[in-house]
Amino acid sequence: MDTHRRAVLNLAPLLEAAKVKRGQEIPTDPTLPPCPLCGAAALAGYTFARPGQIEHDCDCSYLEPEHYQAALLKSWRRYTAPKLLAKDLEGYPRYRCYLEKPLDVHAGNRAAIEAARAYRGGLLYLWGPPGVGKTHLALRLAGRLVGEGRFVRFRSELDFLAEERLAAAGEGVLPQYERLVLDDGGKTRLTPFTLERLYALVERSSAGGCDLIITSNLSPEAYAARLGEVGEAVLSRIQGGVVVEVQGPDRRARGPSAPEGRA
Ligand SMILES: [Zn+2]
Repeated sequence: MDTHRRAVLNLAPLLEAAKVKRGQEIPTDPTLPPCPLCGAAALAGYTFARPGQIEHDCDCSYLEPEHYQAALLKSWRRYTAPKLLAKDLEGYPRYRCYLEKPLDVHAGNRAAIEAARAYRGGLLYLWGPPGVGKTHLALRLAGRLVGEGRFVRFRSELDFLAEERLAAAGEGVLPQYERLVLDDGGKTRLTPFTLERLYALVERSSAGGCDLIITSNLSPEAYAARLGEVGEAVLSRIQGGVVVEVQGPDRRARGPSAPEGRA
């Protein structure tokens, strides 16, 4: 027992020697997050694709393993969440700038911006005419959430259902959505399969299984009315969340022939 104890204590000089040696051989990687406890640089040669795939130029993982692991998990989520969202947006190039670009606040969108600021989870339904900035607002919100290390994925309703269809056919693997922006809801051609998948998603969100941010040109009532027999259930789930209408800065001044476009 005593021998074992002494052996553990005697590791310190070995670690120090290893560090000196390592410092000469393995460079650090400034693109990877530093040690979450002491701020030491990450060593090069790691991807951080999983929380364990990183090593820092310090002894925190040995001296304070539990603190280090817990802090590392948070660090991994803050590192990974923005990358996943950015990857999703590669499929929607014209939306990429929305993450950075602030919205102009006006009477038509003030309530929606407030709702996005107050959002902590659950179902958020943003609706209004095309071109008023619903997707922009949803992505600004998503940008805040990923910055906090919360995973948010982005799919148009069309792409979400296409992915579900492929997965059902045994091709491809569905992402495990912790939080999803379902963009441009209400445009899909409805079949028993798409109805079932949309209902399952809304139901899962309302049961606390994931957070859901839907944008649509349709009011919740109109969105639900398309869904036939599950419409009523979907409407009650949406109304159980936060529903906000988004309007343009001055719809009347632009007249009824405002240019068509996506929010
Ligand atoms: Zn450290």
